[in-house]
Amino acid sequence: MDALTRTKNMKKNYIFTVRSKQQGGDMKEAVREILKHIGEDPAREGLAKTPERVEKAWEYMMSGYGQKLDEVINGAVFEAPGDEMVIVRDIEIYSMCEHHLLPFFGKCHIGYIPNGQVLGVSKLARIADMYARRLQIQERLSHEIASAVMDAIEPRGVAVIIEARHLCMMMRGVEKQNSEMRTSAMLGVFRHRPETRAEFMSLVSR
Ligand SMILES: [Zn+2]
Repeated sequence: MDALTRTKNMKKNYIFTVRSKQQGGDMKEAVREILKHIGEDPAREGLAKTPERVEKAWEYMMSGYGQKLDEVINGAVFEAPGDEMVIVRDIEIYSMCEHHLLPFFGKCHIGYIPNGQVLGVSKLARIADMYARRLQIQERLSHEIASAVMDAIEPRGVAVIIEARHLCMMMRGVEKQNSEMRTSAMLGVFRHRPETRAEFMSLVSR
């Protein structure tokens, strides 16, 4: 069998054996396929339970798909006077790059200027987790977090900065171990007023 036919057959097999969860499919079978593909023996002792562990890990890491903003916030919106900037910095972020299915991880800083309402303290971190636990690119993750805070409490503005390192850059490709990617999303006054943005930047920079 030539390489092309083999590839075609593999593709055919893949389509027939791996179905989505909704179709009654099973990630374990897909993991066994990957193990076979890299030349491993899925039946050997050390790997026997690997498909099960991988499935559990992925279900957890991708649990953000099953969450909705209002459930995450769960009523933790409070009336508050004043328009002082609220900042939570150094929220740990663990996400998965959608191009390589490899992790990227780092810190997220979120700031907003209230317009009569504030969020419960833990909720910014929970919102960040909800979007991080999906397949992502860092730019979109920043924007989704900012938009969610905007939708939740309609503040005068929201600022999000994410600084993250990508295993797809560190382990493969350009193999740059020390480069950190920085993305930001600025909404409302953070977008329109340079001095507000500058204040946020100075408060989150170390
Ligand atoms: Zn990547």
